[in-house]
Amino acid sequence: MRPHYEVIVVGGGSAGVAAAIGAAQAGRSVLVLERGPCLGGAATLRNVVTYCGLYTREERRQVVHGVAGGLLERLRREGAVSPPIRFNAVTVVFDPEAVKHHLDRMCLDAGVEVLLHSMVVGATTEGRRITGVTVADHRGLHELTADAFVDGSGEGDLAAHAGAQVRYGNDGWVQNGTLGVRFGGIPREVEIDVARVGDAVRRAKQEGVRGLLAESGLVARMPVSGDVITYVADEGYDATDAADVSRAERGARHQAWAYLEALRRVPGCEDAYIVSTGPELGTRESRHVETRRRLTEPEVADPAPPAADTVAIGAWPMEYHRVAGQPSEWTFIGGPGYYGIPLDALRSVDRDNLLVAGRAMDGDRGAGASLRAMGTAFATGHAAGVAAALGGGAGPAEVIAELERQDARLPSVPVAGTGPATTST
Ligand SMILES: Cc1cc2nc3c(=O)[nH]c(=O)nc-3n(C[C@H](O)[C@H](O)[C@H](O)COP(=O)(O)OP(=O)(O)OC[C@H]3O[C@@H](n4cnc5c(N)ncnc54)[C@H](O)[C@@H]3O)c2cc1C
Repeated sequence: MRPHYEVIVVGGGSAGVAAAIGAAQAGRSVLVLERGPCLGGAATLRNVVTYCGLYTREERRQVVHGVAGGLLERLRREGAVSPPIRFNAVTVVFDPEAVKHHLDRMCLDAGVEVLLHSMVVGATTEGRRITGVTVADHRGLHELTADAFVDGSGEGDLAAHAGAQVRYGNDGWVQNGTLGVRFGGIPREVEIDVARVGDAVRRAKQEGVRGLLAESGLVARMPVSGDVITYVADEGYDATDAADVSRAERGARHQAWAYLEALRRVPGCEDAYIVSTGPELGTRESRHVETRRRLTEPEVADPAPPAADTVAIGAWPMEYHRVAGQPSEWTFIGGPGYYGIPLDALRSVDRDNLLVAGRAMDGDRGAGASLRAMGTAFATGHAAGVAAALGGGAGPAEVIAELERQDARLPSVPVAGTGPATTST
């Protein structure tokens, strides 16, 4: 480990990995700090095994490429990802072990240094710039410095430690979290979907099974194993408070066993068992880092054509989880089915060398419920990493040029008289 890097990325989830690879491919020395034992974030640590936001809903057109496109290609080659499937919107289901493996390989190939088991617990600043981070491991605390930083922690940890402006949730609201539960022992020929699971849950409730809350939530077959993944064990909690998260983890695991009891009522599922929970509770919303440009619900619902400062694409609807146990609320994206994300939406409002990507971005209630999807986190992460690599002075044109060199395939910016923008798929 070197003491100084050109770019340090905090968090090795979809946003963080894409940022690190983007910055390294732009020729910078890059370190990713991840508190967990593997890369992937929610995809590998929280049983969230469906990449959303890569495709438009109506046409199933892939609109996020770059680092995400590279990963999809690798997964496809070994049958570790499904074709695009339409539930409420379009997603792909993947095998998390393959994601872990390929993210390791992709970081290695790009020359990214990865430090796992390393939690960022502090930051140093000089004026409006972050100068370094404090990292905790079993040997104690370590100080590392960099020229530029990307907060891909999902919790906005780096920004908060650096004294940047952050807020928890939006307008007093925070979306609930859910424990992803993976079930085995369900033969592939058994039809299993949200309606069948919902019926079984209602029946189990009537029959006195305790601990069941939600009657709907994603239910999907995984590639490779054929296991069934469900997002039904909901909890509300403060993701920055270990005591509250501990309570919620216990509660959600208790629910998981109740859902197993309910699931065994579906014909063909009598021998179902729990393969894994989480291991961590899945957090949809925590801190947001305040940026130069907050994205708003109307901009997502009724998007303008991508502008000259569009550095990433969002394509997941606004999927808001208001209350644990209640169905989520959906608002779909109008127009072409995707919206542009400007460079200023990635730049901290008050720390000049800090970029943010992923679910900690500065969206209002609606926009935040779209930006948080992992496909979009890959897109914002890739753009944030490239912007960090190019330095605070780089404008959108330079960032876009480098992203294009890295196969981001952003929608072409309309030139007067040439009609609507199209993606260059
Ligand atoms: C139940 C559930 C279902 C969901 N369903 C979907 C879905 O189907 N499809 C989809 O695309 N999205 C889904 N989401 C949303 C999505 O999983 C997250 O919003 C997404 O993972 C955001 O990516 P990210 O990289 O910003 O954050 P994360 O994936 O959370 O990654 C952040 C990483 O940073 C690390 N980290 C955090 N703090 C520190 C620190 N201080 N120091 C070092 N490392 C740190 C974490 O360990 C983690 O690896 C779902 C979320 C939940 C909870």
